[in-house]
Amino acid sequence: MKYLREFHDPATAAALAKELAYAGNSFARSGRSAVIMEVCGTHTMAIARHGIRSLLPPNIQLISGPGCPVCVTEPGYIDTAIELARRGVIVVTFGDLLAVPGSESSLANARAAGARIVVCYSPAETLRIAAQHQNSEVVFLAVGFETTIAPIVSTLEAASKNGVKNLSFLTAFKRVIPAMKALVSDTSNRIDAFLCPGHVSAIIGVEPYQEIATSGIPCVIAGFEPIDILQALLKLVDMVKNKEASVINLYSRVVRQRGNPKAQELIDTFLVPSAARWRGLGEIPDSGFSFRETWRHFDAEARHGVRIPEGRQYRGCLCGEIVKGKIPPEQCSHFGRKCTPESPVGPCMVSSEGTCAAYYKYISVQRS
Ligand code: SF4
Repeated sequence: MKYLREFHDPATAAALAKELAYAGNSFARSGRSAVIMEVCGTHTMAIARHGIRSLLPPNIQLISGPGCPVCVTEPGYIDTAIELARRGVIVVTFGDLLAVPGSESSLANARAAGARIVVCYSPAETLRIAAQHQNSEVVFLAVGFETTIAPIVSTLEAASKNGVKNLSFLTAFKRVIPAMKALVSDTSNRIDAFLCPGHVSAIIGVEPYQEIATSGIPCVIAGFEPIDILQALLKLVDMVKNKEASVINLYSRVVRQRGNPKAQELIDTFLVPSAARWRGLGEIPDSGFSFRETWRHFDAEARHGVRIPEGRQYRGCLCGEIVKGKIPPEQCSHFGRKCTPESPVGPCMVSSEGTCAAYYKYISVQRS
């Protein structure tokens, strides 16, 4: 990510932190508190890396949400990918998925045992792999939110145009807004405001959050630099204090009101919203995408006659609670003991956007 000097200026950050403490304290004097959820895994990492939680007054709680695609993907997805690899399919994946535990094993273990599992940096690499292995079936592990879905669908479009016959996609696509709605409608959750994801918003735009704001929850879209985040938190505290539920875009250098219509159109050409299962959240209507009938031949489940089961997560792993913001990682008895980035037992410790990984890497260190 590009380093933007003006968004790291220590004097500005200190002034914002002071303002935030002042706003929180004046809020506390009226006996009130606020729970703000950062939805996106990139925000989770940035908040941990810059020690932003430690700047917040005690009555402002910042909890992490379900915005890490690897973390919300169920273990059964990994089981299915391993099953395909065992059948001789070449499985192409982003590196983040490699160490994620399935019910019994991981893709890394399957690869060590001889399965053909190839790590890529861009979905477009899959086209080259498919061309090089025309006598083999190739499956791309298509996991992600709208930000990742757009380049995956662009690869799909290229495969279609070039008549690629040996490529399909095992999908675990997720849409952010239905998940946010599900979190808000669960009365056992307390969320007073959302720090909304910058990357996803670059695709979907500002308008879709209006539905959340209408239900009384303020939303601020922010970038990922420390000053971006501090400004957004200050704005959210102010909005909660003044009971102002609207959508504010503080990331206008990247996010447009209507997002990226070209990417939206591309997604809409190939995919249609459908129900999806999320680790911890269960099945949420319209929170995923399925192939439109015309493109069903690219669907690895249909093509290879497999069906992604729920699977089983490691006993005692609380990733399902972590992605809902119910508990911080330290409340999992495996955290830093059985489960570390070197030997993860849950996806939240594997992913570069996982809450457990963020806490392990930055927050535990800051406290020690
Ligand atoms: S510390 Fe490990 S086992 Fe516990 S919730 Fe996080 S990833 Fe799962």
